[in-house]
Order: sequence, then structure tokens, then C-alpha cells
Amino acid sequence: MVQIKCTTQEQALLRKLLFQNSKMIASDFKPALEPYEKNFKASFVMPIAPLSQVDIGKLTNDAGCAVCGKRTTSRCTGCLSVAYCGQACQKAHWKEHKGFCKTIRGGTWRTVTFGKHFQVDGKIMSAASINHSSGKLNTALDASNDPPANARGEKLFLVKIQRPVVPDPSPRAMMMVYDRGRSFEGYVVRADNPGVYEEIMRQMPEGSQKLKVYRWARRVEDWKLSICLDREPEQVPQW
Ligand SMILES: [Zn+2]
Ligand SMILES: [Zn+2]
Repeated sequence: MVQIKCTTQEQALLRKLLFQNSKMIASDFKPALEPYEKNFKASFVMPIAPLSQVDIGKLTNDAGCAVCGKRTTSRCTGCLSVAYCGQACQKAHWKEHKGFCKTIRGGTWRTVTFGKHFQVDGKIMSAASINHSSGKLNTALDASNDPPANARGEKLFLVKIQRPVVPDPSPRAMMMVYDRGRSFEGYVVRADNPGVYEEIMRQMPEGSQKLKVYRWARRVEDWKLSICLDREPEQVPQW
């Protein structure tokens, strides 16, 4: 056991945390106990393993007001992207939020339907990728039809959209859309997105040097992503 010093308030907090977490332990988990431990309850303080992107997403899903965390349904009316419980919190946050808000304000948003498999002639292709949070090489082919985990809830995040390198006029032409940590990765097929596919292509026309753009996006449904088409992030990342 590690010994730590804490105040009585901190002790009370720790007890409360242990008590709450004890309810999350499976009832059939019965470790062997020493006689003096017979009244002990199993619990834990820290997560047993590092949190995955999905776990982090669940914890931060509805973070409430961006300043105080209070539950709210109101958002900044300029960009509709940040939640505030009221004017006081919005005012307090403005200095920090101003730049982003002006970037995104008045942008053109389009909803795209995406799939999660890279397909060639209807055949699912496998791709190896590095999981940046674990550092492990992920070669498993997830052929299930479950939608990819939504790690960000309704929050905006930056995606990279890559157009086909070779011009592809076919209805099966697809763009790849993913975030920096690849906790989100999807394929936007022309046939599934009539008109919108072309609108996105206009941001990186065939024949131009532009093969990719970075855009703000928000997951709106299991298979739908809303993308701000015509607003570049304040600082264009490179990943
Ligand atoms: Zn607030
Ligand atoms: Zn705003």
C-alpha cells in the first residue's frame, strides 16, 4: 500500500468514490479474503487500464456548460458549437472562444452519410493503422456493420478529408474522412451523397494540388457526419 497524506475532506471524498465504484464491480467477483478483511468491500479508485478514446468520449460526452459544467441546452448563437448555461458564463468565455467562433460563423454545413469500410468493387479491403493512444499496430479487419464508436458526442472535431488521388468519375468514388487519432474514420461515397460529394470536391478540385482539406465536423447520427464545408481551421494542421 502506498501511503498518502490527505485532509479529512479528502478522506471523505475518497471513501465516497470507493463506495460508488464498489457498485461497478461484478457481483460474482469474490476475491479470497483474509479473516480480518471479512467486512471489506472490493472497490477501486483509478481505472484499471488506460482509458481508450471511446471511454474518454463517454466521460466527456455531455460536458454541459463549457465554463461551469452545468447541464444546458443553450449554445453560442454565433457558431452553435459551444454550450453555455447563461450569459455570465458565455461572457467569461468569450475572450477564449472569440477566435474559433469567428472562424466557424456563417459556414456552410452539409450532412454526409459515411461507411466504415474501404471498398473496391464492393469488396471490403483491410488496412493496417497505428492506434495512437496505445501505440499498437492495428491490423484487425472490423467487418461488422456496427457504427463506429462516437467518442465525441455532439462536440465539434477536426477531420481530414482526402479526395481520390486519381480522378474517379464513378458513383463508387470515395473520400476518406478521419480525425487525428483515428478514433473516427469513415468513407464518403459519391452515390450515397448526391450533390454533397461534388460540393466537398469543390474544396479540393481534381487537377489542383489540393488532395486534402481539414474541416470542422460533428457526428449527428450513427452514419452521418455534419461538416462545415467552407471554413478552414484557424491554424491548418499537418497530420
Ligand atoms: Zn455555466
Ligand atoms: Zn461561438
